[in-house]
Amino acid sequence: MVLRLTHPSRVYWPGAGITKAALAAYYEALADRLLPHVADRPLALVRCPRGIAQPCFFQKHGWAGMPAVVRRTASRGQELLSIRDREGLRALAQAGALEIHVWGATLARLEAPDRLVFDLDPGEGVAFERVTAAALEVRDRLAQAGLASFARTTGGKGLHVVVPIDPGVSWAEAKAFAATLARAMAADSPERYVATLSRAKRRGRVFVDYLRNGRAQTAVASFSPRARPGATVAAPLAWAEVAPGLDPGGFTIATMGERLAAQPRDPWAGFFDVRQTLGTGAP
Ligand code: ATP
Ligand code: MN
Repeated sequence: MVLRLTHPSRVYWPGAGITKAALAAYYEALADRLLPHVADRPLALVRCPRGIAQPCFFQKHGWAGMPAVVRRTASRGQELLSIRDREGLRALAQAGALEIHVWGATLARLEAPDRLVFDLDPGEGVAFERVTAAALEVRDRLAQAGLASFARTTGGKGLHVVVPIDPGVSWAEAKAFAATLARAMAADSPERYVATLSRAKRRGRVFVDYLRNGRAQTAVASFSPRARPGATVAAPLAWAEVAPGLDPGGFTIATMGERLAAQPRDPWAGFFDVRQTLGTGAP
């Protein structure tokens, strides 16, 4: 049974003219690519039931009237939400979930992260080329530690570097590993990078945010749209694309289908087959 959309012509992104029906169509068209990154992981949603020009809210727990295809799981006295299939995605569109954020762990193994995310945020006055340079440096440092990594746009101002890992380390160990790498970058190039939350220190620098790697923290999922003007999406990139001239604003709900059709190969080919562990070594 296909979940019925109420008010399918409701406009979610006024500037881009994207409706609820168009969001549902996007989720449906991208489902095969999106679901492997999202299914059976705790979710956090940015819901904008009246579109991005009206109030939006960050939602991690169930709500009255939530369709049953959005599943509820209890963990440590908290309710976790998850989906597992196309119907779940359709329910998210119906609920005005314009952004899908996920844990770096699956419901099956909540205490064992299976991916790290380095969130690169440009401070005020930082050109995007410096964010791409930061992503390449994170990649190279990870490679030094024997770890393959993958880049994506966020649909916003920065970039993410994602590291698939075999479950086995704790959240504390995952975060400590990411913190060590971020702090090493800031120590080696203090004029370029900062690894602390301090807003003042970020001006002119790229914040290497390792804090996504704690328990119950989330990062936007690959292929998720953003509740931002232009209906940009978090787009997986080939490393060759992480170069001067990269325009993250070019990846949108409207352009993603064409991008995928034109791609000879998945820029994240092999992501789900990578077998690597953090081990005990420091980056
Ligand atoms: P950008 O490239 O613009 O930085 P981003 O997705 O990395 O895009 P950030 O603002 O750096 O956005 O990160 C926000 C992160 O914090 C998201 O990954 C989200 O999962 C998490 N988060 C936690 N609480 C909230 C909240 N209340 N609203 C929005 N995001 C939240
Ligand atoms: Mn960010």
